[in-house]
Amino acid sequence: PLSLLKDPSLLKTDALLGGQWFAGGARFAVHDPATGLKLADVANLGAKEAELAIAAANEAWPAWKAKTAKERSTILRQWFDLLMQHQDDLGRLMTAEQGKPLPEAKGEVAYGASFVEWFAEEAKRVNGETLPQFDNNRRLLVLKQPIGVCAAITPWNFPLAMITRKVAPALAAGCPVVIKPAELTPLTALAAAELALRAGIPPGVLSVLTADAENSIAIGKVLCASDVVRHLSFTGSTEVGRILMAQCAPTVKKLSLELGGNAPFIVFDDADLDSAVEGAFASKYRNAGQTCVCTNRFYVQAGVYDAFVAKFAARVKTAKVGNGFEDGVNQGPLIEPAAVDKVQRHLDDAVAKGASVVTGGKHLAELGAGQFFEPTVLANATAGMLCAREETFGPLAPVFRFETEQEAIAAANATEFGLASYFYSRDVGRIFRVGEALEYGMVGVNVGILATEHVPFGGVKQSGLGREGSHYGMDDYVEIKYLCVGDI
Ligand code: ADP
Repeated sequence: PLSLLKDPSLLKTDALLGGQWFAGGARFAVHDPATGLKLADVANLGAKEAELAIAAANEAWPAWKAKTAKERSTILRQWFDLLMQHQDDLGRLMTAEQGKPLPEAKGEVAYGASFVEWFAEEAKRVNGETLPQFDNNRRLLVLKQPIGVCAAITPWNFPLAMITRKVAPALAAGCPVVIKPAELTPLTALAAAELALRAGIPPGVLSVLTADAENSIAIGKVLCASDVVRHLSFTGSTEVGRILMAQCAPTVKKLSLELGGNAPFIVFDDADLDSAVEGAFASKYRNAGQTCVCTNRFYVQAGVYDAFVAKFAARVKTAKVGNGFEDGVNQGPLIEPAAVDKVQRHLDDAVAKGASVVTGGKHLAELGAGQFFEPTVLANATAGMLCAREETFGPLAPVFRFETEQEAIAAANATEFGLASYFYSRDVGRIFRVGEALEYGMVGVNVGILATEHVPFGGVKQSGLGREGSHYGMDDYVEIKYLCVGDI
């Protein structure tokens, strides 16, 4: 699939280290999850190169923060334009290494680029403040200054957007960034970095440390331990988030964490069922269920339970599973064999505990590299099942039955996670009651998709710290300084 790139020079396999493409000694292989075929051998960096990237970033920092906001904004805007001009190629790279259907991959390119556009604009609005003086001989000011060298560790499920959501606000604020992209999807990250260089990002301001799983751990340790690195942003599992948080404690590093979810999707008796079915489908099966805001648990009120399950299953049956490059495919492969195993384990556990498969349920072992799983709907799910507690991160939709609003809220909140949640109701009182009671950072009411660049994305409880996107997304990359001027 990569021989079809319009601009073949976007296929980068070396890392970007302090403004130079760096081959290093070792390589690691990147595979197409649909076919299992090797796509490329990518530079496998380690702890030593992480030190070099941090030093290069620190050296590049003074000149980058000294640029005017408008100068940084212009470079970011140029990067946005280049990302959009190369949307097709970036989409191809993404489908090849990640598996999501090509239209969905191109959609992610637009979504990822939108953060660069947004923060190019926000760069010009990092406003300080003057405060009323407590003594006429003084003036009190609040300055906002770039926090310093930032590190970003990103996952494979959004190979571009999870990078731009962190890098764009950091660059806009005047900070250099060292990125450690996911080992499964480094090609999209490297292509985006090539476009950042073409846009005029100066050497050292952006580094991309590609590495396999083992070296990623070593690089992570260096990024966390460094006292030059002032901020770490991570998107990935709660388990790894806890490790990174502990590793950042000795340097009291500022952290932005976007971790796991266990999103509930509640359908009340008064919902518009057709709309709920569409929202359910979009929220569950996007990216084959591999997003942290994908619904993990459906709670449906008794009065509409059977009708919802029937309509939902009928909708799910229309989905086409296959290679993301094929026309009309809605669901690609899962990212790796372990992801298929988890779906199978959750399915087997649920069935053993009394759930019934309404549609799907099969691992399509014969298809491609064997990482395809049918979109599946399970009825009669109950609280004791694994899928009620753990994030499945795959195309499995367990549907639980409930009687009262109180019961639904309690079940939805019975998790250590608190990222996205959804509910469907036409009752205005209920919309406010439930919207306020859900312990989640994001609540979708009568919608199944809610992310965009100008809203605050993030979670509460063990789903993370901080918000990405929107004007709040700049906060983590600036420090507030109080300046008290006397003897006026
Ligand atoms: P996912 O569940 O999305 O695979 P992970 O949390 O395992 O998420 O990985 C997300 C990112 O974190 C990847 O870039 C991966 O290389 C990196 N990573 C995983 N474990 C560690 C670790 N111990 N230290 C630093 N980075 C890590």
